Amino acid sequence: MKGLTISHSFEKFEAVSQLRAKRRSLLLQGRTMGLVPTMGALHDGHLSLIRKAAEENDDVWISIYVNPTQFGQNEDLSTYPRPLKDDLQKIENLGHDLRRDGYKGEITGVFLPSTQEIYPSAPPSSAADTAGTFVNVSPLGSILEGASRPVFFRGVATVCMKLFNIFQPENVYFGQKDIQQLMLINRMVHDLHVDTKVNFVPTSREPDGLALSSRNIYLGERRRKVATVLIQALRAAEEAYKEGEDSAQQLLQAGEDIVASIQKQQDALPRSERAVIEVDYLTILDPISLETPKSVGQTINRQHGAILCGAIKMLPLEDPSSEEQLGLGGDKGVVRLIDNLLLEPKAVVLAMRKATE
Ligand code: AMP
Repeated sequence: MKGLTISHSFEKFEAVSQLRAKRRSLLLQGRTMGLVPTMGALHDGHLSLIRKAAEENDDVWISIYVNPTQFGQNEDLSTYPRPLKDDLQKIENLGHDLRRDGYKGEITGVFLPSTQEIYPSAPPSSAADTAGTFVNVSPLGSILEGASRPVFFRGVATVCMKLFNIFQPENVYFGQKDIQQLMLINRMVHDLHVDTKVNFVPTSREPDGLALSSRNIYLGERRRKVATVLIQALRAAEEAYKEGEDSAQQLLQAGEDIVASIQKQQDALPRSERAVIEVDYLTILDPISLETPKSVGQTINRQHGAILCGAIKMLPLEDPSSEEQLGLGGDKGVVRLIDNLLLEPKAVVLAMRKATE
């Protein structure tokens, strides 16, 4: 594996048995562990999770594994970015910063398993009806992201459960950016009595508001400029809520108006200059029940606050020019972006606590 041969200040393990032995020795020294599961292609969002873990634990472990079972059969598993050498260098640099800044914890290790190691009985498949041992969290796993990506949450819950069983960490860290994933993992940990606390860290963003994501690399210059449409829509709805609007329909309308006006501007451009956006969903969830408002006009419970969330698709460029800067894959694939905002009070925090009480 490229990048593994270079020496680092943390340990790198590929085998579950090695990791277990190490974990046991750390535990016997009375040290606490925080785990940050990732698929690599690390950016500042991932690094913020690692920093948080280093505030609260003696040892921080990061797993880097592109989990095949959470990719649908037509998704980007084969092209998903895997810059392992850069990732390890980023971790090394961050470890240095943490020591310099006097953090409680240190980055002790990185887990880089093979698929054979993670799925020991059979090669995994993304088919909905495949054989194998999986974790399903229902119905949370089949709404919103799960509706668009049917096997996604089965894959996520399964790989996270495997990682939690391997590490048995006191704490795990997830990003608010993937809020449904966060809530689902929290529910799984609660329901399956996993002795781990699920923690979350706010979304890291580019200066213009775009949520950092390993997939942003697929956006070329043209689609990147328009990609802020989702956060702009969410912020418009948030603004309306802050101004006193309680109707879910009206809040969503404020967001939809933003999308419609950006779409209109783009439609007015020639094919060689425009980007085409499709909204997958724009919705509001109650953070306690995780239900969407059923009837039009239903009001937000101001004691709970709410989760405003959305997903958009940026379609392939219709007419890419040789002069423009194209994204990874040449702007030929659909790029799906997700984002969310928490409306005050951020009862998600309360809901997370409740599930683990
Ligand atoms: P991934 O590598 O995409 O599976 O993400 C690994 C973890 O990083 C997940 O818990 C994500 O929610 C989190 N994460 C991804 N992007 C961000 C972001 N922009 N801000 C905060 N956390 C993030």
